[in-house]
Amino acid sequence: MKIAILTSGGDSAGMNAVVRSVVKTGILKGCEMWVVREGYEGLVRGNAEYKEATGWDTPPFPNNESSATTESTPTILNSLRFGDGHQLRDGTGDYTGGRTLKGRYIVRVGWDDVRGWFAQGGTLIGTARSKAFRTPEGRLSAAHNLIKEGIDALVVCGGDGSLTGADVFRAEWPKLVEELRSQSKITEAQAKAHAHLKIVGLVGSIDNDMAMTDMTIGAPTALHRICEAIDNINSTASSHSRAFVLEVMGRHCGWLALLAGVAGGADFIFIPERPPKGMPWEDEMCAAIQHHREIGKRKTIVIVAEGAIDIELKPIKAEYVKEVLSERLGLDTRVTTLGHTQRGGRPCAFDRILPTLQGVEAISALLESTPETPSYMIGMRENKITRIPLMEAVEMTRAVAQAVSDKDFEKAMSLRDPEFTETLEGFGAIATLVKEPSLPKEKRIRVAIMHMGAPAGGMNAATRAAVRYCLRKGHTPLAIQNSFRGLLDDNVVEPSWLGVDSWMARGGSELGTNRTLPSIDLGAVAAKFQEFNIQALMMIGGFEAFNALLILEAGRKHYPAFHIPMVHLPATISNNVPMTEHSLGSDTSLNALVDACDAIKQSASASRNRVFVVETQGGKCGYIATMGALATGACLVYTPEVGMSLDMLRRDVRFLKTRYGLDEKGKSEGRLVIRNEVASSVYTTEVITNMFKEEGGALFDARSASLGHTLQGGIPSPLDRVRAVRLSLKCMSFIERHHALLRLQPVKAKHATGESAAVITIQSSSIEWVPVQEMVQHTDMANRRGKVQWWSGAKNLVEALAGLPAFK
Ligand code: ATP
Repeated sequence: MKIAILTSGGDSAGMNAVVRSVVKTGILKGCEMWVVREGYEGLVRGNAEYKEATGWDTPPFPNNESSATTESTPTILNSLRFGDGHQLRDGTGDYTGGRTLKGRYIVRVGWDDVRGWFAQGGTLIGTARSKAFRTPEGRLSAAHNLIKEGIDALVVCGGDGSLTGADVFRAEWPKLVEELRSQSKITEAQAKAHAHLKIVGLVGSIDNDMAMTDMTIGAPTALHRICEAIDNINSTASSHSRAFVLEVMGRHCGWLALLAGVAGGADFIFIPERPPKGMPWEDEMCAAIQHHREIGKRKTIVIVAEGAIDIELKPIKAEYVKEVLSERLGLDTRVTTLGHTQRGGRPCAFDRILPTLQGVEAISALLESTPETPSYMIGMRENKITRIPLMEAVEMTRAVAQAVSDKDFEKAMSLRDPEFTETLEGFGAIATLVKEPSLPKEKRIRVAIMHMGAPAGGMNAATRAAVRYCLRKGHTPLAIQNSFRGLLDDNVVEPSWLGVDSWMARGGSELGTNRTLPSIDLGAVAAKFQEFNIQALMMIGGFEAFNALLILEAGRKHYPAFHIPMVHLPATISNNVPMTEHSLGSDTSLNALVDACDAIKQSASASRNRVFVVETQGGKCGYIATMGALATGACLVYTPEVGMSLDMLRRDVRFLKTRYGLDEKGKSEGRLVIRNEVASSVYTTEVITNMFKEEGGALFDARSASLGHTLQGGIPSPLDRVRAVRLSLKCMSFIERHHALLRLQPVKAKHATGESAAVITIQSSSIEWVPVQEMVQHTDMANRRGKVQWWSGAKNLVEALAGLPAFK
């Protein structure tokens, strides 16, 4: 199959990762890969003749003929120079204005053309909004240009407009072919060979506005940019006791404003789908903010989505919100419009992994497509890559905008995914302080919260959410400092609503954490539970917290004090808690790894031919190494699950030698190898670095870097913060549910069921509670990890995208 990819509409971070993944996967599957520059505009313009464009009689590397590879080179790497010889990148690093590309918009690309594209924002093949493609003549020209190059499948990465354009094009295709044939622009044989066009769409949009998928490419990075801005503004707002009104993107979708509101700890947000109910909304906003100020809050953050409206559809603008806050509350208020800064910059880890996985799926969808199958859009639900009929998703997306303009806000919310609604409810539960708690006294619970094990991003955000939820309802939050050791030392405090205000963006553990298990003195722990009248326990941590929950649950046989609801919210950078696909902190850690590896790779590239062996934490779980390798484009990854052997290392050395040998002279780039700290006790980071150095000879040099505790990350990532809030609030409702059941039992004979000691897990597309005893069956206790790990296939993908399978 000959497949072309284009990026269209507004640019977004992660589009380059899509192109890289699609091109490499296509080549791996034996396809011929092309890129279309400047979106649909490039498709309409097509290619001038070679001579006209370049002055050359023939292209320097004719198609299907490699000038640089030899018979013995593995087949995948034979595709290195299969590009049509027109440099995608000129000397200035400008991919779209390169002299050699003049007049050519549809360009054949090879394996190495997309190398190093991960770390760059925007789209290197260019994007445009094409008026011509909206016309039948434009699409006729586009069809002609594709057929001239023999291309029979198209991957489109863009927003709902671009995907609609793709669907229109496919529907019209037979008619276009017929017309081209009747005008004798193509031969009968060409018409026959191109009777159908295969299309697949990937959603590149920073707004996360597409229905039927949880996440669009570029949205997580935009959220990163917004949260960075809020974190920066927070300190100045607090210093001057100011109010800030931030306008963020989102014409029809409030996802960015909502998630930024949660992750940034905002006081108030305005989004298109759910205008403030109270009228006038100015009163509602001022009352909430005034209350916060009265208890001593020094800063105010209000976030306004670009398309925010009131229930009468009147736009709510940042400038007006500022006027209200200044005039009514006398606050020194400033407006910050983030504008295009939200679009740009280096893609975050998620915007490298998601497009890579979706690109792989896009190629599979094309290869499996028949004239009868619909055009698919590649989406994601929780943690699963999905295929959705493209037009269904586009129509549902439009239905949200329609529902909003019909003032049917309930419908607009119902068309968004359930997580959106949950997040909005979560924001409501923690952003504003209520005057009177909502629960009657007899239903109020004393909830202990503690951190366990090593710090992980999101621990503090989860604690903040739990504390605020408790105070809103009338429960008493009890913060246990320094884990079980702290409990035994009576380090228990009642945190206040304001006291946890700035915890959202704080890394580390504000409560203090260690690895001491309750087995240190179970009887004394039970006595402390009684002394502090602890009626429920939430532990936020990694494998230690899981172990502690097991011990406490088993201890119920002897100690009535443990007959209370007890939950474990997984938080560990290793992501080794069984059964859950994501622990808090793992996203922060991946981002820390990506940042470090981008810097290392730059240094490796500067010295042209250096292999960097990067050592990661993770204990006996290779998650961070594997997903980190996927997110950084590392060519090799070593994990404890697979281990290391001499045969493997021999193959890898052979691969590196061949790979560096094939690099164009003077254009060699640094390469990354990621190794988990305990992947092997013999082939340590030092040993393999020395081995690579020795074997690389004149071809390449090797160095090592150990990331160590830097992987715990500084500031938690927005996704970890938002996930922390969502899961923490679910823990609170679990505790309330089980406490209600226990309340019905006689005081002296309370018996908590096994279900009431559970771990909250993310499993594929849902959140599941797993009783701690059931977890044991799925746990490899000796190696402190799950028996099944959802990400284990990613190692093969890392190696495939490096071209390694050819060396098996
Ligand atoms: P963003 O979310 O950034 O706005 P988008 O893909 O929705 O991205 P649009 O400007 O709506 O951006 O569409 C991009 C291009 O897709 C248009 O310039 C046009 O060339 C093509 N396109 C959009 N809608 C159609 C259509 N109905 N028929 C043909 N082409 C279309």
